[in-house]
Amino acid sequence: MFGAGNPDADLLFVGEAPGFHEDQNGIPFVGQAGKLLDRLLAGIGLERTDIFVSNVLKCRPPQNRDPQADEIAACEPHLFRQIELIQPRLVATLGNFATKLLSGRPLGITRVHGQEQQVTLGDNSVMLYPLYHPAAALYTPSMLRVLEEDFARIPGLIERAAGAAPVGVRQDVEKMPLPAPAVAEAHETVQLGLF
Ligand code: URA
Repeated sequence: MFGAGNPDADLLFVGEAPGFHEDQNGIPFVGQAGKLLDRLLAGIGLERTDIFVSNVLKCRPPQNRDPQADEIAACEPHLFRQIELIQPRLVATLGNFATKLLSGRPLGITRVHGQEQQVTLGDNSVMLYPLYHPAAALYTPSMLRVLEEDFARIPGLIERAAGAAPVGVRQDVEKMPLPAPAVAEAHETVQLGLF
């Protein structure tokens, strides 16, 4: 499941992995979590056609088992290439798994949600914005409120990112693939993180 949306989007959401239905029809976030995502987007005046939605993993591992480190490593270059092609202003990670992997840091989503940070993904310098996974917020009203608050900052962050640094290839840093420990670490969180 490659991802879907506007290939010129300023905003890219990165989830964890397609679920069964996403895997079947090739569209990300088609279930209840997806409906919540649509509601949150509507709350800031956006819809799916304004954004692009992708996942770290491009397919659901067999029998729904947890992804292995080599599977994560195999999918990572595809996500980086998507970022290169889409050139989003803001990359919003949904949940622990995508956040730890793309930030390259072990800090959990409870600590870092709503805190933007500049990161280099592949060859691209982008603003990363960690958010709770909508599937988690479905059943926890307090988390939903936080998610709504964090979503409310998105338009301002896109504007800021547009004004600040040029999006895209950085000349001043060498290509920096994610360090191996980040991949291994993210893999450990998959057990808890995947929905
Ligand atoms: N959860 C995700 O992280 N991604 C999807 O595409 C669907 C559910």
